[in-house]
Amino acid sequence: MNPKNLPRALDPALFRGQLRELAAGLRHHLEEEKARGLEGWPRNSAPTRKSPRTSPPPSVSTRTLEEVREELGDCRRCKLHRTRTNIVFGTGNPRARLVFVGEGPGRDEDLQGKPFVGLAGQLLTKIIQAIQLTREEVYITNIIKCRPPGNRNPETDEIQSCEPFLAKQLEVIRPGLICALGTFAAQTLLKTEERISLLRGKFHSYRGIPLMPTYHPAYLLRNPQFKRDVWEDMKKVKKEYDSV
Ligand code: URA
Repeated sequence: MNPKNLPRALDPALFRGQLRELAAGLRHHLEEEKARGLEGWPRNSAPTRKSPRTSPPPSVSTRTLEEVREELGDCRRCKLHRTRTNIVFGTGNPRARLVFVGEGPGRDEDLQGKPFVGLAGQLLTKIIQAIQLTREEVYITNIIKCRPPGNRNPETDEIQSCEPFLAKQLEVIRPGLICALGTFAAQTLLKTEERISLLRGKFHSYRGIPLMPTYHPAYLLRNPQFKRDVWEDMKKVKKEYDSV
């Protein structure tokens, strides 16, 4: 039969186009699932002996970021609540494949309730754009969610009170990759006292997630000679990002 005489819905060219769209959608879905850590499905619906799990493993959360934010509430777990204006929880894609973790909010962040919106934040935005990503595609947060007065360093008890919430955020997001910005983020996440200059430049592991420590953007503003190092680190981040 001449395909030209077929009704439009049966047109083989149209059908092939629809198939291609379906396949592209499925591929996109599979890539997303892979980015979220799915390695494959069992061949049949019976549970295999290798993975008899019926509930998610301990580090995988079934909660949402909103629920973690609700649990944090009007937090008074440490003394920083007395001087803060806003809690700075985090912004970006709740399904991000890449999460940036900074130290803690500065003045601008405290006033706006959003992470990295001041001068250091503008530099972070440029760093993200330099690896062909946007702030909306990634997730940005901090080790501590309230501004230390006068931008002093976070204290141990403050980090201890706040860190469980970062851990919960990361359990919900399940990124393929983390970039720790600066000494506090790197040392806190990696449970080490090693210097950032020695940690940076190579991938470490945070609960099985590759983690790249690099210099903090605020440090770069004061020491622009280290921008090249950060660029080298970010190239590695981008390569890993494209593979997860
Ligand atoms: N520095 C940080 O570590 N985090 C911010 O959100 C802003 C500046």
